Amino acid sequence: MNYRQKYSEFFRNLDGEYFQEDRFVPAVGPEDAKVMVVGEAPGANEVEQGEPFVGRAGNKMNDVLSDIGVDRSELYITNLVKIRPPENRDPKKDEIKAWAPLLEEEIEKVDPDIILTLGNFASKEMLDTSKGITQIHGRIFTRNGRKIMPIFHPAATLYDRSKTPDLEKDLRKAFGKENTGQQKLSDL
Ligand code: URA
Repeated sequence: MNYRQKYSEFFRNLDGEYFQEDRFVPAVGPEDAKVMVVGEAPGANEVEQGEPFVGRAGNKMNDVLSDIGVDRSELYITNLVKIRPPENRDPKKDEIKAWAPLLEEEIEKVDPDIILTLGNFASKEMLDTSKGITQIHGRIFTRNGRKIMPIFHPAATLYDRSKTPDLEKDLRKAFGKENTGQQKLSDL
């Protein structure tokens, strides 16, 4: 069963205004994943390849994960909004609202131990907070009995490399792989 069949009721009920076949990117990853990643919305590379986080931000995420010994294939990776917004603009409130029931269904189905919200959009939405990611990243919050950790969006670390160590530190914490203090060879 493919993604749209699995969530067929949601797609049947989704207002046509919020769906566009050629901009749609489904989630990816095992349904028994322990960690779920929630991004904002797909970009051009994601639409081209039909998978979330496969562009520059995705590569950065994969690199940081591999540095801490985690393979991307272990994660369930999804987005708040599954349609690429025009001209890469931010997703709008009504779009996030229209797609929110699907994200809730995914969370119920995957039942992850922890949800990582990437960047301001996903974090503010999932935690219902106006606090920025810089203030809240790396902390574990509880929402409806589920653990949520906001982390920097990997795209933000591409613009500001000083955020990369925080992203790595937060991911280590999420995966229970806290740094032992040993330096990586690549840091020397
Ligand atoms: N950024 C996101 O938030 N999601 C993607 O799928 C790709 C880039």
